[in-house]
Amino acid sequence: MDLIDVYQQHQIRKTRSDQRALESQVGHQRRSDRDRDEDLRERLDRLVMLTEAMWELLRETAGMTEDHLLHKLAEIDGRDGAHDGLRRRPPVDCGCGAKVAVSAKVCAFCGEPPVTANTFDWV
Ligand SMILES: [Zn+2]
Repeated sequence: MDLIDVYQQHQIRKTRSDQRALESQVGHQRRSDRDRDEDLRERLDRLVMLTEAMWELLRETAGMTEDHLLHKLAEIDGRDGAHDGLRRRPPVDCGCGAKVAVSAKVCAFCGEPPVTANTFDWV
């Protein structure tokens, strides 16, 4: 075995080792993504059940109908200027004069929490 063969064998072993390390890293990332997706699905299921429970209570105790629900849903959908089934929230004015995303915990300029009029903006 000459020097070139030794070098090639070294390179082959190194490449295989790098490949195993990358495959391990990809596998870990896939597990992490799968865990996050499963957590989001579970949270969404709980949110749908909670919403359904609140709706059934309103229907049973306050006499609300599907028409009431659909009318309110359309009203909320249109608050951002578009009836598109999405709830876009424009930034709010901070006391310091900056515009702050409603989902932000604090203003990036002054550190104060944004003032929101709607509790659902925190979600
Ligand atoms: Zn501010």
